[in-house]
Amino acid sequence: MADFSLPRPGCCKWAEGDTGNYVFPCSTRVEAGVSYCAEHSAIVYIPPEERRRSRSSGDMSLSFRRAA
Ligand SMILES: [Zn+2]
Repeated sequence: MADFSLPRPGCCKWAEGDTGNYVFPCSTRVEAGVSYCAEHSAIVYIPPEERRRSRSSGDMSLSFRRAA
């Protein structure tokens, strides 16, 4: 039974789950100083175009939280 509760040294640090309850399901080997495998770094380092879209939705949730 594998323990997914912590990122492993030398492995992809891709995290999934809710805040405070992350799991690290990806055990792909990465080089020293590299946090994510090629597949997940493509998701983490989002192109500026995509980032602008996700930031605007982030602002929406922030104002919603303040109003609540
Ligand atoms: Zn990965």
